[in-house]
Amino acid sequence: MKFKILSLLLALTLNGCGIFNESSESPPTLNRTDYALGTYITVKTPDIPVTAASALDKAFARLFGIEMIASAKNPESELFYVNENAYGRDIIVSDELYSLLHTGRFYAQLTDGAFDIALGSIVELWGIGTENARVPEAYEITEALGNSGFEQLVLSEGERTVRFLREGLRIDLGAIAKGYAANEMKRVLVESGVTDAILDLGGDIVVIGSDRRIGIADPRNSAEICAIVTISDKAVMTSGDYERFFDENGVHYHHIFDGTTGFSADSGIISATVIFECAMISDVLSTAFFVMGVERAVEFAATMPEIGYILIDNEMNFYYSENIEIEIIN
Ligand code: AMP
Ligand code: MG
Repeated sequence: MKFKILSLLLALTLNGCGIFNESSESPPTLNRTDYALGTYITVKTPDIPVTAASALDKAFARLFGIEMIASAKNPESELFYVNENAYGRDIIVSDELYSLLHTGRFYAQLTDGAFDIALGSIVELWGIGTENARVPEAYEITEALGNSGFEQLVLSEGERTVRFLREGLRIDLGAIAKGYAANEMKRVLVESGVTDAILDLGGDIVVIGSDRRIGIADPRNSAEICAIVTISDKAVMTSGDYERFFDENGVHYHHIFDGTTGFSADSGIISATVIFECAMISDVLSTAFFVMGVERAVEFAATMPEIGYILIDNEMNFYYSENIEIEIIN
């Protein structure tokens, strides 16, 4: 057992999930890692040596294309321009940004704002994960809350325009763009003939192929894992309070916000994983479930029986759906 955990440690990535490799000798693979969307992204494939290299190039080109559209932090991105200019006037955007905003707003409505793409002013104010991270003054949080919420975002389908109703509104696609990029990278790889690959997006995993064992990070010791799921052709996306955070005066401040309070979500859940074919929906719902808390998340998930989930609360209780193959490690 001890050996198992050790080899797991090696296979674990920084956050979220990891690839569980039982044998110490893994087959030769083609790997590529690059930094995009605020995290390290790796694709590993033991597949088709002749075409896999160009397939990887195409997949990463797609990823960088999405970064230039959807990153709220990159001053060169299309979203950055929209955030600076969309108050009080209609900005025509690309099809791709429009569809991300449209989908994002749809899920914000569906989750009653637990997931909300229009919390950018709160995300920026706290600066969690940057060197400017700090606990803001109460008045600053009140102000940022006033400049938040998907209701302040006007989208017009015919002209493909975006407009903000508040000057301080900022869109942040941090809880959906990675999942969307994962879907797109997977599509490019599959279209290039790849039938076996693992995409690791800062610990969120997408599998092309069958029966892969994926470790779920222990939220209270994220160098280790607390569960293993076995999946085929699916995404495993985790939102956890250990991914980006700082502690001050005994309080744990992390990067997933509750749009009703302007503070880090404090629902009792410390790790929420969603397992589903579509990485984008997994990404959205893992964030939403984290904010909702166990009771609301379980109730919501009952309306979407195809999705799998694993919720872990602050007493390390596990709540998971019956449609997944899971092994909990004590
Ligand atoms: P994830 O790690 O997928 O849960 O995404 C977290 C990231 O999404 C944060 O770093 C923020 O950029 C953004 N975010 C934080 N809270 C929310 C929320 N409630 N809804 C949507 N996006 C959020
Ligand atoms: Mg997410």
